[in-house]
Amino acid sequence: MDSEYRDILHRCFRCGWCKLPTNYADFNCPAYLKHRFESFASGGRMWLIRAWTEGEITPSERFNQILFSCVTCGNCVEACAMDKIRDKLVDVFVAARRDLVEEGRIPPGVRDYFKAVSVSGNPYKRPAEETGLWAADLDIEEYNGHEYLLYAGSVASFDDPGMRMARSAAKLFKQAGLSFGTLKGEEVDDGNDLRASGEQALADFLASRNIETFNRKGVGKIITISPHSFHTMRKDYPALGGTFEVYHYSQVLALLVMQGALVPGGFGAEVTYHDPCYLGRWNKEYFSSRRVLGELKGTSVREMDRSMQNALCCGGGGGNFFTDILGTGRDLSSRARVREALDTGAGTLVVSCPQCYRMLDDAVKAEGAQDRLRVRDLAEVVSASAGDA
Ligand code: SF4
Ligand code: SF4
Repeated sequence: MDSEYRDILHRCFRCGWCKLPTNYADFNCPAYLKHRFESFASGGRMWLIRAWTEGEITPSERFNQILFSCVTCGNCVEACAMDKIRDKLVDVFVAARRDLVEEGRIPPGVRDYFKAVSVSGNPYKRPAEETGLWAADLDIEEYNGHEYLLYAGSVASFDDPGMRMARSAAKLFKQAGLSFGTLKGEEVDDGNDLRASGEQALADFLASRNIETFNRKGVGKIITISPHSFHTMRKDYPALGGTFEVYHYSQVLALLVMQGALVPGGFGAEVTYHDPCYLGRWNKEYFSSRRVLGELKGTSVREMDRSMQNALCCGGGGGNFFTDILGTGRDLSSRARVREALDTGAGTLVVSCPQCYRMLDDAVKAEGAQDRLRVRDLAEVVSASAGDA
């Protein structure tokens, strides 16, 4: 492990603040919420890594499970009591996973995920030419010098709720007269969750392929559907030769609404909004979605107890969306989040990430709450307000 990280392992004094939000509403670390052992929270994991790097323990299957259970939600980065280590907590966990991956100590579900992406360029094992099929009947032009490239990413290309998101956003952009195109079969996975899972070489390879495609086509501005793509294209792509202006679709919707190019109508039902970690905590973008929702007529946003920097993660980050290492049960953060949304009395839980969409939609079913709460994406809500969905 890099000496930069080794040097901070000793500084955690196991106070435990990292598993709470800053308003102390409830436990806010999804891995701890599920397992209720200190070793699954940030502080305990730091001490395990310290013992490992000092040769006091040897990795076991349980150790690997603990290391890969972090969903990189960033709550501990927000809440840690120690200034000197706070910003590096998740970096340490990812660095430790990189070391495990290099040593071949990889849990089976994680290994399957890596293999699928390495063979197909996406976790769904689908041929590359199918990445544009989500938009097959939408009459969207292939990118050719448009102002924006619309990059869907793996989940919005192949998972039903994600595809609905991408389609709704694209239809609104067309309606507003935005100049944009898609890659029609040339996208590969953005690499973000592979990187967070410790598979940096494959993440870099895929990012470089995307960057080569974007540069060859002269792309300057990118709209992403996934906050995970948004994050890695802003944070990791520049060091690999890819410097682009990157926007999340909620930001573009907010811009179009502010410009008057899109006019939301009446929604007529109360909504609550779930902040995706890779948009909110990691990139401090809390307001674009709320700005759009604020323009819906007859609707108010009922905030959950944990919102914005304190939002409880859906559990779909850090590779867990694909590896399911947190498993099932009532203590999954997605289910706790649904119960929190139900407490607001809102009938619609609005999301702006395809991974949150699937995690929370499944959790609504697991909670048996289909008659009380419906998960919908921001673009679908705007379309519905205009009578389109
Ligand atoms: S809040 Fe920071 S110092 Fe305290 S246990 Fe968590 S990681 Fe360690
Ligand atoms: S990033 Fe999230 S899941 Fe990982 S240790 Fe921190 S709070 Fe827990």
